[in-house]
Amino acid sequence: MRLPPRAGARLCLVGPCIVASRLGSPIVAKRHVRVARLAVERLESAGRAILGLPSRPVFFGKQLKVIILGAGVVGVASAWYLAQAGHEVTVVERQPGAGLETSFANGGQISVSHAEPWANPEAPAKILRWLFREDAPLLFRLRADLQQWRWGLAFLRECLPGRTRRNTTQLVHLGLYSRAELTALRRETSIQNDHLERGILHFFTDRESHEHAARTATLMREHGCDLTMKTAAEAIALEPALNSIADVLQGATYTPSDQSGDAHLFTVRLAELAAAKGVTFLYDNVVEGLERTADRIASVRIRNAHGVQALGADAYVVALGSYSPHLLRPLGLRVPIYPAKGYSITVPISDPARAPHVSLIDEAMKVVVSRLGTRLRVAGTAEFTGYDLGINRTRCEAILKRAQHLFPGAFDPRLAEFWTGLRPATPGNVPLIGRTSIANLYLNSGHGTLGWTLACGSGRALADIVSGRTPQVQFDFLRDES
Ligand SMILES: Cc1cc2nc3c(=O)[nH]c(=O)nc-3n(C[C@H](O)[C@H](O)[C@H](O)COP(=O)(O)OP(=O)(O)OC[C@H]3O[C@@H](n4cnc5c(N)ncnc54)[C@H](O)[C@@H]3O)c2cc1C
Repeated sequence: MRLPPRAGARLCLVGPCIVASRLGSPIVAKRHVRVARLAVERLESAGRAILGLPSRPVFFGKQLKVIILGAGVVGVASAWYLAQAGHEVTVVERQPGAGLETSFANGGQISVSHAEPWANPEAPAKILRWLFREDAPLLFRLRADLQQWRWGLAFLRECLPGRTRRNTTQLVHLGLYSRAELTALRRETSIQNDHLERGILHFFTDRESHEHAARTATLMREHGCDLTMKTAAEAIALEPALNSIADVLQGATYTPSDQSGDAHLFTVRLAELAAAKGVTFLYDNVVEGLERTADRIASVRIRNAHGVQALGADAYVVALGSYSPHLLRPLGLRVPIYPAKGYSITVPISDPARAPHVSLIDEAMKVVVSRLGTRLRVAGTAEFTGYDLGINRTRCEAILKRAQHLFPGAFDPRLAEFWTGLRPATPGNVPLIGRTSIANLYLNSGHGTLGWTLACGSGRALADIVSGRTPQVQFDFLRDES
């Protein structure tokens, strides 16, 4: 008799379950099942590695009907990995396509090396200094908004050295995992998104920040990030375009394995690949609310040109970026996500020799620079001013002026396009991933400054959690409270 493909793995689970249930405790039994699952998964992946086969998600449960709310880079990556795991997936999005809000024109960096959050011991003094400067890299516009004050206090707590260390470690772990998943996905699908693998060079124009970076670098290396310190001359040798600021450059850090690419192109193309695998995308559909019965979500209420309707599923994933709290609050779930508005300029490169090839982080101005095919993207700064998406000319002009200063003659500033987006920021920049206290409601949101970097790892881990598997990355996922 031929056994179905994963019958062996299922049989392996029976033993520990029986033993555990004889011990009389359902909690012990549950834990034994988890351990057994993990052992089987590790055995299978070791076996596949020995045979030279690509790794494959192991799926132990039945096929679930999953609805993902939001088609940003995080929602689409979740859809991809959930479909790969064998689930029936529908994505609901208010825009006419994927990746049209915060994932549209970000800095383009896959930057594991940029894991130190804004909330660090040096931040409070800097923020105070910048408080009334219109072009400040980090600007809190204090408002009569309880959410903003609550978030701001939590941010201050995350500036404590121990919290910063913990958050940086979390982000490095998830970042390394995510970058590896992105690389595997690229190999598997040949997805094209103006991608470059030339590393990320983080440069400093004041000595104090460079010295601070050296301390952070040690922590990053301890956790496996290949970040090294560079002198000013070494930085210019890696990226000759930085010669323009040779007189003030203090040094840099360099992470060769970091990457860059257009997050919007990636999101659109991954959505197309997912659709080809059977994922349904409902664009132009606004999510209005979730209907709860007892400890479960029964349906999601959506509105489109034809009216309002309820969609039902086995599981629901909230990936609405900065808007996630709005949907969760009526259910009694408070999540510490607040919008951190950022800006970018995108401009065609007119002189390729004067534009950088290596993706850059400019510490002084808190902007990142990526070459995306024939375009240059310069993005960054943060403004805490609620959900306002208006373009502030002063802030855009400041970024444009800095780009002209760094790369004189590389582009025509009159052709620059300005954009703004709302990063879904948690106080410590660590995203919220996993199951909520409502049994069939999951969250994949709050990726702040690193949503593009962390999207694939977060999507894969979320798919594992929904499938009842243990994610293969050391990260504090939401606690399974069901
Ligand atoms: C200036 C700037 C530069 C950045 N640079 C980088 C970088 O270099 N590297 C990096 O890793 N990250 C970067 N980021 C961060 C990154 O862009 C975000 O973390 C990421 O895009 C968040 O993705 P998301 O899918 O969670 O949110 P989003 O992309 O905002 O997706 C959420 C989706 O939900 C939809 N939605 C919301 N409400 C509803 C509703 N009621 N009904 C239906 N649909 C709804 C929205 O339309 C949207 O498509 C940058 C961000 C900014 C602003």
